[in-house]
Amino acid sequence: MAELKHFYETFQPKHYDVYIDIDREKKLISGKTTITGAAQAQEISVHQKYLKVSAVQAGNQDVPFTTDDQADTIRITLPAAGDVTVAITYTAPLTDTMMGIYPSYYQLNGEKKQLIGTQFETNAARQAFPCVDEPEAKATFDLAIKFDEHPGETIISNMPEKSEKDGVHYFATTVRMSTYLIAFAFGEMQSKLTKTKSGVEIGVFATKAHQANELDFALDIAKRAIEFYEDFYQTPYPLPHSYQLALPDFSAGAMENWGLVTYREALLLLDPDNTALDTKQLVATVITHELAHQWFGDLVTMKWWDDLWLNESFANMMEYVSVDALQPDWHIWETFQTSEAPAALQRDATDGVQSVHVDVEDPAEIDSLFDGAIVYAKGARLLVMVRALIGDDALRAGLKNYFAAHQYGNATGADLWSALGAASGLDIGAIMHSWLDQPGYPVVTAAVKDGQLTLSQKQFFIGEGQDVGRQWQIPLNSNYDAAPAIMKEKEVVLGDYAKLRAAAGKPFRVNVGNNSHFIVKYDDTLMQDILTHTDELDDIAKLQLLQDLRLLADGRQISYATLVPLLPRFADSHAAVVNTALYRVASNLKRFVTPDSPEENQLKAFYNQLSADQLARLGWTPKAHESNDDQLTRPFILSAALYGKNGAAIAAAHDLFKANADKLASLPADIRFYVLANEVHDFGSADLVDELVAAYRETTDGSYKGDLRAAVTQTPDKALLAKLIGLFKDPDTVKPQDLRSWFYGILANHHGEQAAWDWLRNNWQWLEEKVGGDMEFTTYITVVANVFRTRERLNEFKAFFEPKLNTPGLTREIQMDTKVIASRVDLIEAEKDAVNAAVAKEIQ
Ligand SMILES: [Zn+2]
Repeated sequence: MAELKHFYETFQPKHYDVYIDIDREKKLISGKTTITGAAQAQEISVHQKYLKVSAVQAGNQDVPFTTDDQADTIRITLPAAGDVTVAITYTAPLTDTMMGIYPSYYQLNGEKKQLIGTQFETNAARQAFPCVDEPEAKATFDLAIKFDEHPGETIISNMPEKSEKDGVHYFATTVRMSTYLIAFAFGEMQSKLTKTKSGVEIGVFATKAHQANELDFALDIAKRAIEFYEDFYQTPYPLPHSYQLALPDFSAGAMENWGLVTYREALLLLDPDNTALDTKQLVATVITHELAHQWFGDLVTMKWWDDLWLNESFANMMEYVSVDALQPDWHIWETFQTSEAPAALQRDATDGVQSVHVDVEDPAEIDSLFDGAIVYAKGARLLVMVRALIGDDALRAGLKNYFAAHQYGNATGADLWSALGAASGLDIGAIMHSWLDQPGYPVVTAAVKDGQLTLSQKQFFIGEGQDVGRQWQIPLNSNYDAAPAIMKEKEVVLGDYAKLRAAAGKPFRVNVGNNSHFIVKYDDTLMQDILTHTDELDDIAKLQLLQDLRLLADGRQISYATLVPLLPRFADSHAAVVNTALYRVASNLKRFVTPDSPEENQLKAFYNQLSADQLARLGWTPKAHESNDDQLTRPFILSAALYGKNGAAIAAAHDLFKANADKLASLPADIRFYVLANEVHDFGSADLVDELVAAYRETTDGSYKGDLRAAVTQTPDKALLAKLIGLFKDPDTVKPQDLRSWFYGILANHHGEQAAWDWLRNNWQWLEEKVGGDMEFTTYITVVANVFRTRERLNEFKAFFEPKLNTPGLTREIQMDTKVIASRVDLIEAEKDAVNAAVAKEIQ
């Protein structure tokens, strides 16, 4: 356990001279850090982790110090309080944990190579050099870096290189910034550079294992994104350059280090000639997310980690705002509706979920704060709600003032609300308080009671939940004027329903546009009215209808069986958003059938029926100039047709495979996975799996790699699955960053579930050592909870994880996931027969 006091209170660094010498061969870091700052006491502490400190000097004199590895600290006794210069000499190991300074491994022409990079958020800068490793402790930095350099190697950092002398690379002094945003990287790299209108140098860097044109897409998006933000924020980009670097080993998705953003290769680089539209959209939103942070997070930083949401929720909203401006034809807000909205609504319905704003001190708990569905998705949804309330003009004006007031410093959520409040004239803080500081969200029940149209709010739970009477200030966005803009009360009566219905001339709806974070339960009268007028619903409304009903069914407020007859009504929609919501419901029906049972065959027939007309319309091969909706819909249809055992679809996929057997990578990226998966599943052999695994090791194309991984894990052959599990600890095949996806693929394959689950239990300690120090660790528990659906598995899950409940950072995840599985098991046991009967009724 680390110390919980903020070191910044007793020691405020102003400037760091950081000298680091890295020996890759010996896996050793040696360094000397000189910190100039103000000491409020004679005893100060700075952070360190895994550092072996040999000397501490204050004003050129050795001073007493002790290191405490449990508390991540060096405690230093100064001659006196006041302005001081402290120099710390140390060595440290160069470790492979994807935290601190670490090597990424890759191959070039069969030769093993390394690229050294850094990952300091949240608290790993202290692994590289001693520092007050707290976001508030902003200072300027002079970096000087030496390494066992070979000809042809490059080094880059937050700032441009100023000079090189005796193998030491000196970088220009940084602006005032937080330690967790420092970054550098060196090795053999290729790059592409350009300049923004305002003269900022934009660069994309990658290993030479990639084709040069894989850097082009990112360069274009990054350049236009910086230009967009300079305009939108009305605040210039504060550094001379903005570099994007793809690292072969990277734990998170990307990291917003100021001026040197790091990414997973698959989230930065892509083949411009063969990449699916949704992959391009994903890469673009990742880049625009990180670049949004260059201001919101880097220029102005949260004071402490409890306001992490300020950084992440905001960047998560801005990634969509900017991509919508850069590529308006993509309609990227539709992706927000199909990805962020359902992720937030699902997770936020489990009792015990964290609120967006969380009080936190312990570093292990800080890492577990990065709950993607809450801090990112829900937080972004809340800010979208604010944006809808105040409009873009007030948002931009407020942000401009916020940046001006806090630049190169820190801020809290309250500072943002006061800036937006001043610009809009609304008390944003009061509205947002109920959303940020409370976990969960309401279900608004709309009902006609004694002729009166009535709305009431109540917290929505999936699974067991304790109702403590939470209430929210809900932006209703109703299509009836009688509804208030904000519903603060537990219940409101809107008036005589018959009169309101006649005056409006359309069915009553709330949360039009689906931008507020709540779901709606209409009573029978209101729901029947909506369902008899579905032609009048736009695509987002159809998505919302299916999504809200699915959640209500998960929460046992309605039966899943009532959803089954709705699916054929929307199955011919050409809108990708509708198909995404529809097939999400359909996918949940798979939980109610046992694999290879007559009930499953019936469900397959239903799938085939749902997808048949669309399959005939869209076909297997993407057409030139087809709509984005068709491109994004096809994968759902192919997936459904293959699960539905559509003979023509299976044969067509097999033919495509045979015709492209010697050039599988060149199969159209939109359909490649389905062709490969079909082959592995229905026509597979050990040789084929070997061949695809070899291709996986070879290729540098991230999306092809993903297709290969997902396809091979679909094999029904238990011996082959065991062989794949045997690769989990072979980093030359399965990189630690990709292990979870491999694990999940096999766990979700019912032929592999037992073996994958056994592997996890037998190797938990190894896994903890490998990725335990990292914010992705808890998601191994989450993916297990996504799959399990029987009481036996629930009991096994509890038996294994309950003894780990007190592990810092795991507590909440274990408690929540136990509830997730338990509620699913209860649901299946209660509704299995009714759901399968409803499916049987639909089959013609
Ligand atoms: Zn972020």
